[in-house]
Amino acid sequence: MSYVVPVPRVAAVPVVGAEPGAVFPVRRIYCVGRNYVDHAIEMGHSGREPPFFFMKPADAILPVTEDQIGQMRYPSLTRDLHHEVELVVAIGKGGSNIKATDAMDHVYGYAVGLDMTRRDIQGEAKKQGRPWDAGKGFEQSAPIGAIRPAAQCYINAATRISLDVNGAKRQHSVIGKLIWSVPEVIEQLSMAWDLQPGDLIYSGTPEGVAAVLEGDLLHAEIDGVGSLRVKIVSG
Ligand code: MN
Repeated sequence: MSYVVPVPRVAAVPVVGAEPGAVFPVRRIYCVGRNYVDHAIEMGHSGREPPFFFMKPADAILPVTEDQIGQMRYPSLTRDLHHEVELVVAIGKGGSNIKATDAMDHVYGYAVGLDMTRRDIQGEAKKQGRPWDAGKGFEQSAPIGAIRPAAQCYINAATRISLDVNGAKRQHSVIGKLIWSVPEVIEQLSMAWDLQPGDLIYSGTPEGVAAVLEGDLLHAEIDGVGSLRVKIVSG
């Protein structure tokens, strides 16, 4: 057998706290919509809906280690690029119909991520009842810090998640405010899809989403997981 076009490169995220040079290969990127009450409310919803999911392509990741500043090109077609800081769950063991009580056995580790969104395009898609792909799944739309193995993360209800832009606080919350917890998200997701090693789950963003402009420096952080710096550069 021979491939008739060049084989796509496997998207991969650096891992910290494992052997040097270790990377996590990305298969799929699942995202949870409206998973913090105050974000659901700011988007015009009650915050009481069941969870729903959308995907980004695996090669939408923009991996950034803590010693780097990622360079995200301002994307085409939008004039309203928004930040959404999120806890990212990296799946290490696959499964379907996973019970929430067993879900942690399937988690390899965690990272801090940004679900970057062309809000104007997403808003128009919502109005028209069209898919969100162009609003959510574009190039570099999923910046992510290094993945830290779960045993080395210290996540509990009080764990802080935050994002500042040019040093000013934009988003801050705690993981305990997730409407659907990580085990519940895994349970629900695995009813709809067969989870596999290499899957990433962006678990949803707290309130405070807003626009960024060319030249802005974003600094996302989750206590006990890591931090992520991204600069928005000219498209
Ligand atoms: Mn999001």
